[in-house]
Amino acid sequence: MIYADNAATTPMSEAAINTMTTLIRETYGNPSSLYEFGQKAKEVLEQAREDTAALIGADAKEIIFTSGGSEADNQAIISAAKAGALKGKKHIISSKFEHHAVLHTLKKLENEGFEVTLLDVHENGIIDPSEVEAAIREDTCLVTIMYANNEIGTIQDIKGIGAVCRAKGVIFHTDAVQAIGHLKINVVEENIDMLSASAHKFHGPKGVGFLYARKGIRLANLIEGGAQEKGKRAGTENVPGIAAMVTALKEEVANIDKNTAHILPIRNKIIEGLKEIPHSALNGDEERRLPSNVNFCFEGIEGESLLLLLDDKGIAASSGSACTSGSLDPSHVLLAIGRVHDVAHGSLRLSLGEDVTEEEADYIIKAVKEVVEYLRGFSPVWRDLVAGKTQFIL
Ligand SMILES: *Cc1c(COP(=O)(O)O)cnc(C)c1O
Repeated sequence: MIYADNAATTPMSEAAINTMTTLIRETYGNPSSLYEFGQKAKEVLEQAREDTAALIGADAKEIIFTSGGSEADNQAIISAAKAGALKGKKHIISSKFEHHAVLHTLKKLENEGFEVTLLDVHENGIIDPSEVEAAIREDTCLVTIMYANNEIGTIQDIKGIGAVCRAKGVIFHTDAVQAIGHLKINVVEENIDMLSASAHKFHGPKGVGFLYARKGIRLANLIEGGAQEKGKRAGTENVPGIAAMVTALKEEVANIDKNTAHILPIRNKIIEGLKEIPHSALNGDEERRLPSNVNFCFEGIEGESLLLLLDDKGIAASSGSACTSGSLDPSHVLLAIGRVHDVAHGSLRLSLGEDVTEEEADYIIKAVKEVVEYLRGFSPVWRDLVAGKTQFIL
């Protein structure tokens, strides 16, 4: 089996599994308890906070642990919106291709009277900071733009967007779930006010993440209860999960250069190989994309069948976002970069693991070529295209 769906989730690293199992066995105290068992857990928790902060150039006080990326996104956006509303600022800027954890939170706020501007991401999946600048108004309280897209892997000019927001005094949040551990991130140098992360996208456990919120930003209480996480997020902390997340993140950050050097040429080989398929197109900018990401559209086929046949050949891939598979709607990300419905349906995302090999790349290219040709062989859409009854788009 070749697991090529690392943007959906990653396997835990051995070191992270070790941290987690050791802590589950040995450090089961409640970090809010005053006796030794509790204090041990508290120490682990606070060390994890220090280490997490250090890995992104933040201060430990600026980190709150969450149940994952979705919660961090909700928390960040709702906090900034509430703070904005107090000052009469109810306008938020985001983009059309954000993760649903962001888009659905914004929809909810819209229903509550906020105004949301969703910026275009163009054909290459990139937003220019000047477009963010032009959209900022007197009543803008938040800009939220993802660091790297989960489907097409495009990487934004976060530092540039952050600078624009800083100059205008608007809070800047970025969903960095796909970027952290894979790209070098420093929240101070990149003018980031809030950042969301999720452990299971960088070889940590599922159900754990964190939100960085710069000193001075008031967070709203999403969950009422005890005084954990400075009262902003009640509930006994998942100490083993949090510590395992930090183990995984340290490992990933230490190996960014090495992993990139290994994966990039193999990824590029796959892209070049798949480009040879007639009437296909790479989605998203070729240069400014995550080193692990390949995303193609193939005309005249249907993504779901492609995935099932690849699964038969031992390749686990995706048509885009794990959250929308199972629905027949084409990806909102592919529509946002201007792919028409028919073309967007024939999409394939391969998100490679850091241990991918040349041989696996060769096998992937061969398998995709075979499956696309096979499916086109009995696709009525393809027959019409070839017969000239409908026009090729790609
Ligand atoms: C996976 C993902 C999320 C959601 O994270 P969870 O920890 O699964 O809640 C949010 N944003 C992006 C970009 C993601 O890829």
